[in-house]
Amino acid sequence: MTTNIETFQFQAEARQVLELMIHSLYTNKEIFLRELISNASDALDRLRFEALSHPELISADDKLEIWIESDSMARTLTIHDDGIGMSRDEVIANIGTIAKSGTRELLQTLREKQSSEGLGTLIGQFGVGFYSAFMVADRVTLVTRRAGESDATQWDSTGDGTFTISAAAKFNRGTSITLHLKKFEEDAEVEDFTDKWVISRIVKRYSDFVAYPIIYKEKDAKEPDKPLNSMKPIWTRPRSEVTAEEYKEFYKHISHDWNEPMETWPFRAEGRSEYRALLFIPSQAPLDLFYATGKFGLHLYVRRVLIMEHCEELLPGYLRFVRGVVDSADLPLNVSRQRLQEDRHITQIRKWLTKKILDSLEDMMKSESGKYGEFWKQFGRVLKEGVSFDFENKDRLLSLYLFESSYDGEKPTTLKDYVSRMKETQSAIYYLTGPSRRAVEHSPHLEAFQERGYEVLYLVDAVDELLIQGLPEFDGKNVKSVGKGTADLGEEKDLKEKTPGYSSLIEVLAKKLEDRVKEVRLSSRLTASPACLVVSDHDVSPNLEKLLNQMKGDGSKQKRIMELNPNHEIILKMRDRAEDAMIDDFAELLFGYALLAEGSDLQDPLKFNQAVMRVLAKTI
Ligand code: ADP
Repeated sequence: MTTNIETFQFQAEARQVLELMIHSLYTNKEIFLRELISNASDALDRLRFEALSHPELISADDKLEIWIESDSMARTLTIHDDGIGMSRDEVIANIGTIAKSGTRELLQTLREKQSSEGLGTLIGQFGVGFYSAFMVADRVTLVTRRAGESDATQWDSTGDGTFTISAAAKFNRGTSITLHLKKFEEDAEVEDFTDKWVISRIVKRYSDFVAYPIIYKEKDAKEPDKPLNSMKPIWTRPRSEVTAEEYKEFYKHISHDWNEPMETWPFRAEGRSEYRALLFIPSQAPLDLFYATGKFGLHLYVRRVLIMEHCEELLPGYLRFVRGVVDSADLPLNVSRQRLQEDRHITQIRKWLTKKILDSLEDMMKSESGKYGEFWKQFGRVLKEGVSFDFENKDRLLSLYLFESSYDGEKPTTLKDYVSRMKETQSAIYYLTGPSRRAVEHSPHLEAFQERGYEVLYLVDAVDELLIQGLPEFDGKNVKSVGKGTADLGEEKDLKEKTPGYSSLIEVLAKKLEDRVKEVRLSSRLTASPACLVVSDHDVSPNLEKLLNQMKGDGSKQKRIMELNPNHEIILKMRDRAEDAMIDDFAELLFGYALLAEGSDLQDPLKFNQAVMRVLAKTI
């Protein structure tokens, strides 16, 4: 065998992650073993899956196993699997690079937080599990051979910024990872990872449910021991027999999340079809929840054989944050990814799971409202996508939604509770969309509604604009924006009578602002402010216009309607001075004021500024 050794640099993010591992003060170092066993188990799953279409990859007497071997003299620990293995290129890509989206941002937060909890999230969410070996080892050697290929590859690193790749002689398919453990100090809090009892305890604790035997072998021992793990698929066991700890570890295994789940839901369907599911709600939304590159979907098993790791078809998109496994007895083992979408069983499972999840969320909302609030903070934005896509469950979804509102400070409300608080004279459910709570709650559009004690919902998520378009009414009540159309507060007659007195002001303002405003009219919407801008009932809100423009990268503006408060001092004075020489500047200032007051940007800051200067100079 030639020993042509090539040296590579770790990619920048990988280097930073490694550095974190090497200098980690994270006390729970034993989890490195869980990570490596998890990778070994994934590799065996993949082999079994590929063998469905390439049976030659596995022979009949192949035992699919994971071996752990320790040598206390040499202080090495080796984890073997005879799984799918890696080609040379795969080793370089998988173990030298982290191209996963969000790693950089996460590293940044981590640096700011400096917490070991953050380290856990980092390793978990971004699949840097392999590198956790460097928490306990000062050198790691990996030898691997891809199933179906004849060449083996060796990877070596001390984690110092480079790794080497060379050809290796390897017996059979699969991967062996040898850790050269850091010096063992009796008094340090780290355990001796070459000790059989230590290993056996760690495996039991974290990896008991792994579906392949995990076998321990001491160096020079003649007979290997019996498997350390029970291998029983956790979702087939009755809930009463599984400990909370076991559920948590299983969750961590499948989700690659180091945090504990917020909820664990085992479901079981019996009758004509038989499926089981074990679902989890994470306690924190992953960073890639809204990235197109985010990987979601449940693990799909058919009679306990893993068929697919990320089966997105099993849940509607708005439930993509749910993790877990589904096991079905009805699907064929060789179900193909392309056919999944039309598969009758899959559709049926999706329906069933959706119902189960919504049931459980309703229960949580009823009996644990604090927890539900926490859930909503993490995943509400995703759940809100549902109402536009899932017509069948629209009403159930609406009852699960929480909204900020003018009612009770920070506490969000359901639509049902909103309706229960509606005033007798109130004819609609009112809302205002905008970029942030601060922007909407100070908007002049709210004034008259608030004065009457009418509650207004603050819709400040981007997805709310979509949601509200699919929600013309709720519980028989119209849903209406306070920034659209006429205010309809029962004062139309009064306004009509007042209007002639303002006709020259209205005319002048309409003329001066004609490139930006399509109509000027009196309004009952305002109490404290002189003017505001609204759109017609069927126009897009300024907030949505801004979002759309950001996407398109242009800044075109639809013309708005300017509403005047006939009782405001400024408007009363302007009415009497509609012919004033400064009316141009007054118009400019009034328009700019209205934009700023609702949280929008000035369209022409220069023009506005010049008007400010002229008016100041005149009046000072
Ligand atoms: P993750 O497992 O979360 O993807 P890791 O850093 O642990 O992240 O591993 C990176 C990749 O390296 C894996 O996705 C897999 O492709 C490959 N890999 C790691 N360990 C093994 C193994 N024992 N056998 C085959 N491939 C492996």
